[in-house]
Amino acid sequence: MSDAAPRRLRQLGDVSVSQLRHVGERRIEALATLGIENVFDLLTFYPRRYIDRTKRVDLSDLTVGEEAAIFGEVKKVTSRRTKQGKSMVEVSVADEGGSIKIVFFNQPWRERQLPVGVAALFFSKVGEYRGERQMTNPVVDVIIGPLGDERDLSRVGRVVPIYPASGKAGLTSWEIGGFIEESLRRAGPMFDPVSLAVRERFELVDRTQSFWGIHAPKELDEVAPARRRLVFDEFLRLQMLLALRRRRLEMSATGIRHPIARDDVDVQPGALVTSSSSLVRRFLAGHHFALTGAQRRVLGEIADDLAGPLPMHRLLQGDVGSGKTIVALTALLAALDGGRQGALMAPTEVLAEQHLASMRRDLEGLTKLDPMVLGGERALSIQLLSGRLRAKERQSVLAGLSSGAVDIVVGTHALLTDDVRFRSLGVIVIDEQHRFGVEQRAALRDKGKQHSDESADPDLLVMTATPIPRTAAMVVFGDLDRSVLDELPRGRLPIITTWAKDSHDVNDCWLKVRDEVAKGRRAYVICPLVEGSERIEATSAVEERTRLALHELRGLSVGLLHGQMKGPEKDEVVDQFRRGDLNVLVATVVIEVGVDVPEASVIVIEDAWRFGLAQLHQLRGRVGRGDAQSYCFLLGTPPSDDGAIRLQALVDSNDGFELAEVDLDLRGEGTLMGARQRGRSDLRLANLRRDEDLLSAAHDVATSMVAHDALSDEPEWEDELRLFVDDDEADYLFKS
Ligand code: ADP
Ligand code: MG
Repeated sequence: MSDAAPRRLRQLGDVSVSQLRHVGERRIEALATLGIENVFDLLTFYPRRYIDRTKRVDLSDLTVGEEAAIFGEVKKVTSRRTKQGKSMVEVSVADEGGSIKIVFFNQPWRERQLPVGVAALFFSKVGEYRGERQMTNPVVDVIIGPLGDERDLSRVGRVVPIYPASGKAGLTSWEIGGFIEESLRRAGPMFDPVSLAVRERFELVDRTQSFWGIHAPKELDEVAPARRRLVFDEFLRLQMLLALRRRRLEMSATGIRHPIARDDVDVQPGALVTSSSSLVRRFLAGHHFALTGAQRRVLGEIADDLAGPLPMHRLLQGDVGSGKTIVALTALLAALDGGRQGALMAPTEVLAEQHLASMRRDLEGLTKLDPMVLGGERALSIQLLSGRLRAKERQSVLAGLSSGAVDIVVGTHALLTDDVRFRSLGVIVIDEQHRFGVEQRAALRDKGKQHSDESADPDLLVMTATPIPRTAAMVVFGDLDRSVLDELPRGRLPIITTWAKDSHDVNDCWLKVRDEVAKGRRAYVICPLVEGSERIEATSAVEERTRLALHELRGLSVGLLHGQMKGPEKDEVVDQFRRGDLNVLVATVVIEVGVDVPEASVIVIEDAWRFGLAQLHQLRGRVGRGDAQSYCFLLGTPPSDDGAIRLQALVDSNDGFELAEVDLDLRGEGTLMGARQRGRSDLRLANLRRDEDLLSAAHDVATSMVAHDALSDEPEWEDELRLFVDDDEADYLFKS
């Protein structure tokens, strides 16, 4: 690693860690357990925190009762058993300023971990024992191992980076820091693919400085700008890959121009239509409510996509109750207007069945021309393709799909297995997208093409009811266009949410249920999640229903809905509830999505803290769907702060996007990214909330580079991006 041209990242990726000094078999293995095989991996293994030795904690200055992090060298270790037979390891630690005793109970291995000469960080509250300051069972980070590990004391002088998980791998943070410093020194100046203009515009330090600043800062002040630049790079690469992927899709796509125009979606209920009007027009004219402004805007965007030459690839986000269904139906009907078919995919069979039922209701009475039937006109055929169908039913649906006799099919993603063939699939709607990943989405599109006699790419609309913060959407769904239903149908009152904390509140809750029922409204009672078993959950719902019917809700007609019931049984119960034959429905989370009974005005959620925030918001969305004031009661005492924060957030806000931000704060990026392929292009340093401005900046830069085809003038970029994708994908993205 010593010729003069500035180093590119991919070159660093080609240098094995075995080329570093002092890295032999054992350390190669240890580094591998941290996912580090080459110098690039090493340089992107970032410190978890720093100790600022310029502001040394004077051990003699520690205050009893406060949390502290101290850094010192082990001077003495002893171990013994207490009178109760517990093992006890006592360690004396000193720095230049003083010393402190550290005690470990029931951790006999600390004696081996902390022999004399080891320097480590210790975190805990400072206690006192017989008048002496002491730490008990602190968190320990070994920085310098017992053998000195080439103890270059100049490195302890200022700011010391602390690397994660090093203890487990049998490596000290000190050793890792040493390898990294050596790599940085030997790599020399690094090539910076981000132009000076962009760096100046967004106040970014150059690449060489960023790596030095994050791993070997002279002052703590150097860390933040270094991190800023590295975060920008993470976002930029990700956004470039997404933009490239998109462009590829567009280049290789055979799109369908569906016969729909913007003014088709401006049709108002009651507008004049004839039997020769398009299905879209007839549907909107016959509907019992007018679209909201947001629905019209979004449908306009969708109509443009559908009519255009490129396949639509769009994410539709809308809070619970914002009215996504009608938007999806309109898109599917546009496919039918062009003589093609539509498919709606749901994540579970239960949801697919619910979609089928509501779709049949909504599209009732619509007919299409069909020269193959007597009279030349027939009702739309909407069918379910589910694992629960009997072989014969399944065969008949399959035959209908390949002949074109079936217009819309509803099912899970099993819809696009090998034996399913369409005559001509025009539009796919995927509901609840967050449960499918990017790869699955791509696979679905491909199948849609291959499985259709007309070998074109169907238009794709992805719907999600879980509001995703804008930043997260840019990362997780960055290859999709985005439409947002940011307006609820008129007349909706915010749901009043109460966290019933004591028996008095709980009493009020059941009184409210009775009150509302007396006014002719309906109530849901949601039973707690039971870990791991739908069967036990069902049992507890059965018991709860019996209990409520005998006590709190005595005299009301109380129904039951859970996941172990058969399809027809469930439908029957939901129908009774819809009609009002049942006043109260005791249910498990099966009702989370899709059940739509506008007369329901109360929902009681038992042990609410067991549910995630997004799920609670979804559940709450089962009420407030009509004009009446609705209520949500959260029952149970959360055992953790997180639980309490979730419940309070729900009390404070009805806005799904706001709640999604809270959720992101509570759970971090990790869970969000679950759906995305894990790999090198993962975000390691970036924090979607804190770094929002950088994400926007990176997005703009990436989009404009890809759009202007600037990458072909800058082979360095291709070189860099190749480091982050596998060879197949790289060949696909960069083939000319
Ligand atoms: P989502 O799927 O987005 O949660 P739905 O499509 O199920 O929402 O719609 C929620 C409720 O609002 C349904 O009862 C639906 O009939 C009703 N609705 C949808 N759009 C409108 C509108 N523009 N005006 C009045 N009611 C509407
Ligand atoms: Mg819905």
